[in-house]
Amino acid sequence: QKAEWDKLKDEQTITADGKHIELAANIGTPKDLVGVKNNGGEAVGLYRTEFLYMDSPDFPSEEDQFKAYKEVLEGMEGKAVVVRTMDIGGDKELPYLTLPHEMNPFLGYRAIRICLAQPDMFRTQLRALLRASVFGQLRIMFPMIATLQEFRQAKGMLLEEKAKLVSEGVEVSENIEVGIMIEIPAAAVIADKFAKEVDFFSIGTNDLIQYTMAADRMNERVSYLYQPYNPSILRLIKNVIDASHKEGKWTGMCGEMAGDQTAVPLLVGLGLDEFSMSASSILKTRSLMKRLDTKQMAELADKAINECDTADEVVELVQTYTK
Ligand code: PEP
Ligand code: MG
Repeated sequence: QKAEWDKLKDEQTITADGKHIELAANIGTPKDLVGVKNNGGEAVGLYRTEFLYMDSPDFPSEEDQFKAYKEVLEGMEGKAVVVRTMDIGGDKELPYLTLPHEMNPFLGYRAIRICLAQPDMFRTQLRALLRASVFGQLRIMFPMIATLQEFRQAKGMLLEEKAKLVSEGVEVSENIEVGIMIEIPAAAVIADKFAKEVDFFSIGTNDLIQYTMAADRMNERVSYLYQPYNPSILRLIKNVIDASHKEGKWTGMCGEMAGDQTAVPLLVGLGLDEFSMSASSILKTRSLMKRLDTKQMAELADKAINECDTADEVVELVQTYTK
């Protein structure tokens, strides 16, 4: 099987009926690019920049960040790179950033919430990204967006930093896409409104499932509620994809579910445009997608959403379709 997968390394991902789907990789540092190359990644769908902060004794400087972003963009040789702005908080801490002790860190001061409240830190990251943008195809993504105001505020800061750089004579790309993670149910529900203002969505199922099911993703006692195939989750995903397509935008997924071999047929059926996963899952997913027919998978997804009552029923249904 491994040998069969290796042959797919330099191929694009095309379904049995000829639809191209972008198969991208999640990375945490520029060093991970080797794995992306070795596994035939068509893009970087999630660069988790918080590791840059976590691996540093103090806030990484604009210059240090610029170097890391440039290295990734250049390394991908023109292929798209989705860089997610800092997602600290929740379970991720920084020794040099004192965060308040909270009863519910996953519901608290985290990611874009910190960035909007402490804009100096955020603006440094945005400037580094903008400066690096000329070295490849950059897509900037904001995490943990719950409201349109948050998105507008974050994008406003990005545009302000861009204007400042341009007035300083620094070159900035004109083709940067700006999108958001869909990982809070509130955003998934009004995806139609977000779709008018963003360039793309990427669904973060690790958090979307945790917040939808009210089940801490780190707590084993409630892990039985962590149900990617629950019809409620599938309906949210469908709502997001459909909303983006209505506005001519695209939707990707960068949570673990994107590389889950039971979920892939459903997601292909729902029309997901981009799948981002750990590099080691790319080739087997490409192999699976080559065997899937999008019309048949659309029928499967439709049945899962409308006729199945439970996650278990969905799994059974997928098995009958992919035998
Ligand atoms: C997610 O929430 O699905 C995601 C990709 O982000 P993280 O796992 O870093 O929270
Ligand atoms: Mg997340």
